[in-house]
Amino acid sequence: MRMSNMYMPTLREVPTEAEIPSHQLLLRAGMIRKLVSGVYSYLPLGYRVIRKIEDIVREEMDNIGCQELLMSAIQPRELWEESGRWSDFGPEMFRLKDRHEREFCLGPTHEEYFTDLIKNEVNSYKQLPLYLYQIQTKYRDEKRPRFGVIRAREFIMKDAYSFDKDEEGMKESYKKMWEAYDKIFTRLKLNFRVVEGDSGAMGGSDSHEFMAVADTGEGVIAYCDNCDYAATDEKAKVVYTVESNEAEKEMEKVYTPDVTTIEALEEFFNIGKSKFGKALVYVAAGEPVVVIIPGDRELNETKLVNYLGIPEHELAMADESVIEEISNAKKGFTGPVGLKDGIRVLVDSRITKMKNLIVGGNETDYHIKNVNYGRDFEGEVVEDLLLVEEGDICPKCGKPLKMDRGIEVGNIFQLGIKYSESLNAKFLDENGKEKPFIMGSYGIGVSRTLAAIVEQHHDENGIIWPLVVAPYHVVITVVNSKNEEQSQVGEKLYKELKDAGIEVLLDDRKERAGVKFNDRDLIGIPIRITVGKKAGENIVEYSLRKDNEKEEIAVEEVLERIKEEFNKEGIKL
Ligand code: ATP
Ligand code: MG
Repeated sequence: MRMSNMYMPTLREVPTEAEIPSHQLLLRAGMIRKLVSGVYSYLPLGYRVIRKIEDIVREEMDNIGCQELLMSAIQPRELWEESGRWSDFGPEMFRLKDRHEREFCLGPTHEEYFTDLIKNEVNSYKQLPLYLYQIQTKYRDEKRPRFGVIRAREFIMKDAYSFDKDEEGMKESYKKMWEAYDKIFTRLKLNFRVVEGDSGAMGGSDSHEFMAVADTGEGVIAYCDNCDYAATDEKAKVVYTVESNEAEKEMEKVYTPDVTTIEALEEFFNIGKSKFGKALVYVAAGEPVVVIIPGDRELNETKLVNYLGIPEHELAMADESVIEEISNAKKGFTGPVGLKDGIRVLVDSRITKMKNLIVGGNETDYHIKNVNYGRDFEGEVVEDLLLVEEGDICPKCGKPLKMDRGIEVGNIFQLGIKYSESLNAKFLDENGKEKPFIMGSYGIGVSRTLAAIVEQHHDENGIIWPLVVAPYHVVITVVNSKNEEQSQVGEKLYKELKDAGIEVLLDDRKERAGVKFNDRDLIGIPIRITVGKKAGENIVEYSLRKDNEKEEIAVEEVLERIKEEFNKEGIKL
């Protein structure tokens, strides 16, 4: 491609709305453009990368016998009513009506649709296992679209589904997908961790997330260096022991004017946070719920919604009016003793082992000392409602956990029969008995992966594409396009490389050399050929974007050097 003809609207300034490097660089390099919040187009350079990511995903899916098809984004309400997700998906679902007032959604995912498709076509165990996938556009009206294509409202996903005759087969399918994902993200040059995930709204049992390690990632991972334990913070089990053998003292009301935060209480009572029982007030599916956890810990909302059995969007922090209504006091003074009758109280199991807690008094400006579970209050005891923290004990081996951040680029779920049962999708087994399909579902965020790669491969000058996904492999920069010799050498090399099947850009623009150098670094082309003053002597400069080491070589050597680089990266030409 000649850069003089290329549509590549690069920006010199960092767009103000972009907070993280991948978002800034994809915009600046003219690879993506925003239409409205969370909705993007992929411009020619960006789209070439998308297609390369898709090709790798396709190859590895095809390798495990997963067959590609393409489904519609528009799905009828009835299908989603069958699984119960028409309401469970809540405000994240884009909904629309046709001219006959029939309701549809723009698919946020396709479990229902795939299950419905195969239930009408597959009826015998002999046709199983069956693996299908598509690479398709998904729609989710995210609460907080951000970071460009990382959390978008329209995005490209590879979604695959497995149908097995039994649990064992499903586990085997899950393993195959896991291995395929390992290969995909390795080929894409991502530094990633596989961690246990929360199955949440998807249903089913086991799930794992593939996290591209990045400080800017929204995902938080707890992992153990000593063993292989790793889980998202939503999922990680918290091991936290607070056994106390203090004698139970008498309850005592204490005047605590305006002391409402844990920090302020700590100072007021001159005692550590762990002595407090923190009360958090939520409204869950319309009902107030008070949750009591140790004062030095944070609540894990995912564990809370899982325990309550409600979709995430039905949980919200209570506002002041609800708090005043149930506790008869201002915010900051809620506690488990003396709440309005009938209020649901959940108690993290650790609270039941702590002695002589300080809690809110359910009276403005008062707390109560020496409160003990069982004697002074009761509630539904929930084993673990806490959010994991750095240094917590590894649930597998007992060593301290570490924390990391990542971008979730893919995940795999063992669904079991959640969808086949509710959509009545059955086959006949070896004994002629009807059984629901045992399913798995497997996603990769293709467009999010584009950004994750940039997040891991860039420097202050721009993107550094790994050769496998680079929009073009090579850029030939003609330093002075008005110079006849330089132009000729550039043209000659351009033709030679193109004929050899290399994807090459020729920077033949009538721009200053500095502009050309800046652009090629910004758009991140991995192999750079500079045709400059020594063109007449048949010498050009060869360098790689990733290490910047410049070398003068003869024009005849260029193709060979490029081939060597392909070899090193394990890429066939
Ligand atoms: P998240 O926790 O980030 O919201 P999710 O659990 O909702 O992700 P899935 O429903 O499992 O995601 O979707 C499969 C994959 O699609 C994810 O692993 C992610 O890579 C990608 N993905 C999900 N939501 C978005 C989004 N809003 N924008 C871009 N990619 C997304
Ligand atoms: Mg989500």
